[in-house]
Amino acid sequence: MYYKLPTELYCERNCITSHADDICAHGKTAYIITGKHSSKANGSLNDVISVLENGHISYKVFDGICENPSIENIMEAVKEAPKKTDFVIGIGGGSPLDASKAVSLMLANPDKNEDLLYQKCDAAYLPVVTVPTTCGTGSEITPYSILTIHRLCTKASLPHKIYPSLALIDPMYLDSAPDTVLKNTAIDALGHLIESYINTNATNISKMFCNHALSLWKAIPYILKNNIRNYEAYELLMMISAYAGMAISHTGTSLPHKMSYSLTYEQKIPHGKAVGTFLSAYMRHADIYACNHILSLCGFSSVHMLADTINELCGHIEVPYSLAEKAVKDIAGDSIKSRNCPYPVNEEILWDIYKESVAII
Ligand code: NAP
Ligand code: ZN
Repeated sequence: MYYKLPTELYCERNCITSHADDICAHGKTAYIITGKHSSKANGSLNDVISVLENGHISYKVFDGICENPSIENIMEAVKEAPKKTDFVIGIGGGSPLDASKAVSLMLANPDKNEDLLYQKCDAAYLPVVTVPTTCGTGSEITPYSILTIHRLCTKASLPHKIYPSLALIDPMYLDSAPDTVLKNTAIDALGHLIESYINTNATNISKMFCNHALSLWKAIPYILKNNIRNYEAYELLMMISAYAGMAISHTGTSLPHKMSYSLTYEQKIPHGKAVGTFLSAYMRHADIYACNHILSLCGFSSVHMLADTINELCGHIEVPYSLAEKAVKDIAGDSIKSRNCPYPVNEEILWDIYKESVAII
């Protein structure tokens, strides 16, 4: 058994302002990494800037992080960094948060080029503060950073474990999120819980996070289908996402995530939706007791009911045959990609999962 979760986390209304001192204690110069629009619209960027200005911390904002950020996007941000950055603040969904971790790694190693991102080595990184504004990735607490690698036409997690030092969750930042963002990211969190539970690395501690958060997830379909938008609903969505982040911090994700990456890269399907489409088929191939345990915790009577709910929330996906074939061969031919899956993975099983999960055209 191994347990490590060094991030300090707060989840409350006005979280940024209440923890101004914790943010300012990180150093004299901050580099804010965020997306193009949403952090301005939901007030999170302004809240952070006010805290830094009141605390006489100098800062610079990079607001050019794209969805599913690429290596090139990270290096663009690195180039614009203040000369002597003490810490990095990521604000937004999983994309800017993952980007802030990658930027912190590069800034701590100024003599290295972008090859460092995917080099297996012990490298330092600057402290990272995370402010999530979506409710799925758990990136505010996980040590992972997933980037798009255009050269390989896919996405992959960095080998470095970059733990944020402080995560500040204000659930009200979800108030500006469109329904689709809430739905896709809530399904991503469900994916983290299911893939962490059905995982070769699962431990009693990772399962404890899964058990608790899956039972909370029971309320989510009602909230999303009825468009319940209040603080309590946002807090539940944010905390499920954080618990799921705690779970995958220990186990990593599994097949549905690996299978999702080509859909996101080639068809621009949002991360949570792409993961969600493979979940019920992934469960159906797993140990029947684990499968039934998960279903009963989150209130589904069968994997079909789970699949119907995911489809109702996120919509169906069509995949060209050639793309499915390439993905199946790629995952079956690389044992590292299926190493967290507790059952044997071969082309036949991958085709089964594909055919059950998407419409192949
Ligand atoms: P995202 O790519 O960060 O954001 C999706 C969209 O939502 C963007 O257009 C963004 O706008 C907008 N948005 C964000 N917050 C909003 C808000 N409060 N109100 C309105 N719009 C908002 O989406 P995500 O699903 O959170 O993150 C996906 C990324 O996280 C993927 O790259 C995935 O691989 C990664 N991921 C990481 C982990 C991990 O452990 N590190 C786990 C799972 C997934 P702006 O662009 O204007 O900000
Ligand atoms: Zn995910």
